[in-house]
Amino acid sequence: MKPNHRRDFLKKSILGLSGAALIPGSIKAFTPKPAADPSQALPLRTLGKTGLKIPLLSMGTGDTNNPALVQAALEKGVRLLGTSTYYGNGNNETMLGGVLKNRPRESYLIATSTMPKGTDHQKGLFTDPEAGTAFQSDIENSMKRLGVDYLDILFLPFAAKRESVFFEPLLRVMEDFKKSGKARFIGIATHSYVDEAIRAAADTGIYDVAMAAYNFRLQKMQEVNEAVQYGASAGLGIIAMKTMAGGFWDQNRTQPISSKAALKWVAQNENVHTLMSGMTNFEELQNNITLMGDLKITDDELKDLKLAQAGQGLYCLQCRKCSGQCPHDLDIPTIMRSFMYAYGYRNLDHAQQTLNLADLSGKPCEQCDVCQVECAVGFDVKSKIENIARLRDVPRDFLLVRS
Ligand code: SF4
Ligand code: SF4
Repeated sequence: MKPNHRRDFLKKSILGLSGAALIPGSIKAFTPKPAADPSQALPLRTLGKTGLKIPLLSMGTGDTNNPALVQAALEKGVRLLGTSTYYGNGNNETMLGGVLKNRPRESYLIATSTMPKGTDHQKGLFTDPEAGTAFQSDIENSMKRLGVDYLDILFLPFAAKRESVFFEPLLRVMEDFKKSGKARFIGIATHSYVDEAIRAAADTGIYDVAMAAYNFRLQKMQEVNEAVQYGASAGLGIIAMKTMAGGFWDQNRTQPISSKAALKWVAQNENVHTLMSGMTNFEELQNNITLMGDLKITDDELKDLKLAQAGQGLYCLQCRKCSGQCPHDLDIPTIMRSFMYAYGYRNLDHAQQTLNLADLSGKPCEQCDVCQVECAVGFDVKSKIENIARLRDVPRDFLLVRS
């Protein structure tokens, strides 16, 4: 079915069923709880056609396994928590389930995702026509770990090329979750081909939300901003992730990226409705809360971002300019993402899981005297790959002990 026909079909199907949708009785209108300290009240924005008025600061929990930190975020007014089965192989969801179990269901919003079988990260496509069944049961298992009978947002992760967003076997499952009320809203999450994915999500007429990698280091800044505008105008709630662009300019973590400047930069775009910030400690949480009180970005903060002479940093733009250059067909953007999780965010478990998505068997880089890959930001791809490849063989239980 062509995308336009598919869109019309989907629109009719969702409209036809909306009146009969089974919405669990426990879903109540969401009213943000006032912050304990009014001077620290978080600004609110409306998450597109979901109509949810949510704090501009949300919490991505994938970089922490500390329930007290999540508790603290909720106490300080954060409402939307974003996790994924992908984080710690479900352990992050289990940790959140413990935090949420004694809280009134309407006092928080929970979003999760689970990676579909047959995700081709290199091509930005979903390939397995039978993926829907496992996808469905994986999401149901996520809900069990979280201890909820509905999700506020269910994400289709790794949406990239337009075809991936319209991939019927998964779209049908997403749609079914929404119709049944097990997911109040559905969305895509996208790291690459971001502009294409956001536009496609809007064009389906089905999705409510798009969560996209969005930060000051965007390569196709204009195209992404136009797509964000397009999506927001079509009613999509827009959530920014990867807002810290790797966290550090250098591998030894001696030059941190200014989180204040980076988050403020994202917040300048009024079409971005909330920032899914991955916070790892209490100081970072407090700093983020405080900066939300004054979003005006100063000239000095812009200089902090080194916009004019942006160096390499640790952030892979996911621009895929390197695609097809490696004779061993390595999935370099995925490996570079793993490198960023390890050195930028110190999340070694997530780094290893990401690395496992790319086939590094046989140590292909050792076979090359000279690397043939020219990266858009000048990464020494060979040395980064050889470095991060060591993580493959580290037993996972070592990695779960966070430094
Ligand atoms: S490794 Fe370089 S060229 Fe490849 S996607 Fe990342 S930034 Fe772009
Ligand atoms: S060094 Fe590694 S990335 Fe570079 S061309 Fe060889 S296998 Fe590919």
